[in-house]
Amino acid sequence: MSTDAMSNAALFERAQRVIPGGVNSPVRAFKAVGGTPRFVQRAQGPYFWDAEGTRYTDYIGSWGPMILGHGHPEVLAAVQKAALDGFSFGAPTEREVELAEEILKLVPSAEQVRLVSSGTEAGMSAIRLARGFTGRNKIVKFEGCYHGHADALLVKAGSGLATFGHPTSAGVPAEVVQHTLVLEYNNIAQIEEAFASQGSEIACVMIEPIAGNMNFVRASVPFMQRLRELCTQHGAMLVFDEVMSGFRVALGSAQSVYAKAIPGFAPDMSVFGKVIGGGMPLAAFAASREVMSQLAPLGPVYQAGTLSGNPVATACGLTTLKIIQRPGFFEQLGQRTRSLMDGFVKVAGDAGVTLTADSEGGMFGFFFADSLPQNYQTVMAKGTDTFNRFFHLMLDQGVYLAPAMYEAGFVSAAHTEQDIADTVAAAANAFRQL
Ligand SMILES: *Cc1c(COP(=O)(O)O)cnc(C)c1O
Repeated sequence: MSTDAMSNAALFERAQRVIPGGVNSPVRAFKAVGGTPRFVQRAQGPYFWDAEGTRYTDYIGSWGPMILGHGHPEVLAAVQKAALDGFSFGAPTEREVELAEEILKLVPSAEQVRLVSSGTEAGMSAIRLARGFTGRNKIVKFEGCYHGHADALLVKAGSGLATFGHPTSAGVPAEVVQHTLVLEYNNIAQIEEAFASQGSEIACVMIEPIAGNMNFVRASVPFMQRLRELCTQHGAMLVFDEVMSGFRVALGSAQSVYAKAIPGFAPDMSVFGKVIGGGMPLAAFAASREVMSQLAPLGPVYQAGTLSGNPVATACGLTTLKIIQRPGFFEQLGQRTRSLMDGFVKVAGDAGVTLTADSEGGMFGFFFADSLPQNYQTVMAKGTDTFNRFFHLMLDQGVYLAPAMYEAGFVSAAHTEQDIADTVAAAANAFRQL
């Protein structure tokens, strides 16, 4: 326990003096919803406690990684044991091989995987590899998908389809994003037009297959099918950014969900993070042996990392991946998550509030709208003020939802039926006050 138990407000004050905005990642600052960020003191199972000792039911789970909830005893034991054996060596370890084998076993689209330390790093490296492999420069991304904060990906759509994007961050030269084309999610006509006009120059199309960075939006099956066809036809790589959806929406990740709907479906490259580290800094990118052999030290595409495949992080990730493979794990997680969203929709209806929701595995999203949005613009079109009021009404009742309407939510295996029921009851109360 900290001896000088400070309030959240006092801690935020103190943090702002030494850390820009008081936080080490922007969304933690509560800028979208207003109010004082909660400084977390500890967490256990589906809960965390803030600096003032208030308990919250956690529906962000560190933005996805904590699929088992906090402090799972088997994960703790593995991490403690690994820590005693050494924090980092800068030389290979058996556990990296074991984790690679485990990932590839669950992701049949890939034959080799490289471990890195963050999703940003993995996404950036995947793009370099796609460019190196195809010998092409252009990349396509979709508005509302987040692939980390690498320069070439901090970009929004230009004025027309033929024009490349504009940087969304200061410090990114326009030249750096001149090869990045930003299209509308789920818009088949746009991607067809892009390939028709510049298909031979496109190295890869990068997509969050089930997007979790514009709330929760699925790529439609026809859109995904067309994307696959176009990439194959034009020799571009289809890169699945599954940093959030990987091992979270299904044991086989989002690609297994699409493979069920589209026979023979597979992406050319996959990017993982979040769940594969179980809360420790760990991410990865994976593809066929042919593609991955382009990477250093075998091939000409350079990529490296001092802490890549860190022995403590791999212990945490490996144990997490083993536990989520137990019989019934995803069935139960999916059912809990669905019951949370079904509950929200029901009690919203009772209160006369328009709400729609979706979920897959342990990831969910809800919208103050009458139908599920299909792209970023529709996500952002309405409901912001309502969401912000709802967020605070829930927070006041000890429920911690993502502090921004454009973020997805997460349920862990530690959330019990009672936790879900309590949250739905809190939501009923909140909807009545909206
Ligand atoms: C979180 C996330 C990233 C970035 O990962 P970091 O570990 O935060 O760098 C990339 N892509 C997606 C889809 C994400 O959700």
